Amino acid sequence: MDEHVVPLYRRAEEVLVAGDGAVVRDADGREFLDFLGGIAVSALGHGHPELVAALREQAGQLLHVSNLYRHPYTEQVAGLVAELTGLEAVYFANSGAEAVEAALKIARKHHTSQGQTDRTGFVSMEGSFHGRTLGALSVTHAAAYRAPFEPLIPGVDFVSPGDEAALEAALNHRPAALILEPIQGENGVLELPTRYLQAARRLCDQTGTLLIHDEVQCGAGRTGTFLAADHADVKPDIVTLAKPIAAGLPMGLTVVNTELAATLQPGDHGSTFAGGPLACRAALVLLTALQSGLQQDVVARGDQLRAGLEQLAGDHDLIVEVRGRGLMQAIRLSSGAPALQRSLHQRGLLANCTAGDVVRFLPPYVITPDEIDRGLALIDAAIRDLEEPRS
Ligand code: PLP
Repeated sequence: MDEHVVPLYRRAEEVLVAGDGAVVRDADGREFLDFLGGIAVSALGHGHPELVAALREQAGQLLHVSNLYRHPYTEQVAGLVAELTGLEAVYFANSGAEAVEAALKIARKHHTSQGQTDRTGFVSMEGSFHGRTLGALSVTHAAAYRAPFEPLIPGVDFVSPGDEAALEAALNHRPAALILEPIQGENGVLELPTRYLQAARRLCDQTGTLLIHDEVQCGAGRTGTFLAADHADVKPDIVTLAKPIAAGLPMGLTVVNTELAATLQPGDHGSTFAGGPLACRAALVLLTALQSGLQQDVVARGDQLRAGLEQLAGDHDLIVEVRGRGLMQAIRLSSGAPALQRSLHQRGLLANCTAGDVVRFLPPYVITPDEIDRGLALIDAAIRDLEEPRS
């Protein structure tokens, strides 16, 4: 197997062939409870009837027209996203990294078109992850990801999340933008403090720096509000969305405020596939579901998951911290996170170990209360096994 596939990923052995809600099935008929959602993507789970119907209908009508022509759905998606984010205009892309690339380009052009040609740098956070393309990689912190591809774009300063003085000093160097994830997903579901998010907004305003929130992983309803930073009442100038936004189809969005809406002009940027009819139909199913009750379900299931994980943390010394919000949660262990991931997999629960000692849970928004309870019971049993290995 995989003879002709570049060995980029350490993939699990089984071949997944079908799914239903928060359950996926392999070719041998074995079922797994999906607490990972394709890494924060499958917001409507698997085989969602309305999503399937919309995609079937659209596939039979029109798959692709390019951005030289209109179809009915780009404007509908953009309108709903503007309503849900409180921002003005949407640039369509196909992935998170692409959405970040557009954000960086918008920030640079915003300043250079005002004659501020020195404002080309960026400030980013230690522990950040923004994607693998060269621009997004330049504002990604981990040395292991960056080193083989240097030199990356120059003028990027990394500051420690939470340290307001360091942020102020970095912003005084007049970067084009500050980019941050309100919850750092790849860094073990690490939430930036509310006060810090608010300070970042204030310091950006004081220094004329654009504020980019990368909500590719934490946004689009996942944490209980449409944007994760909504709870802090902070509105960025630019927000990037991707992963769950089209419920499993590739889509990235760069959403900007009114002032930035006309920054990119024809010729400045573009994408052949972005904003195509099929991905837009999928996004419309998710966005309308969020507006008609699904967002409240995320809050309720998130509270249930949180309470269950807190209970497990009380029962097991191995869990040193419960992190996250809504359906983006994690447990930090004193040791053995990779072993717990393997044990959960064997027991039939898909989750993922990140940042060394953290096991992360990003289930579909449609997960049921019973499935949350079943998942918690599997986590409990797997941790018991780690604590008292069977002889
Ligand atoms: N930004 C954040 C916060 C992410 O978590 C990710 C992916 O994990 C990306 C950007 C890159 O997204 P993609 O893999 O769709 O390019």
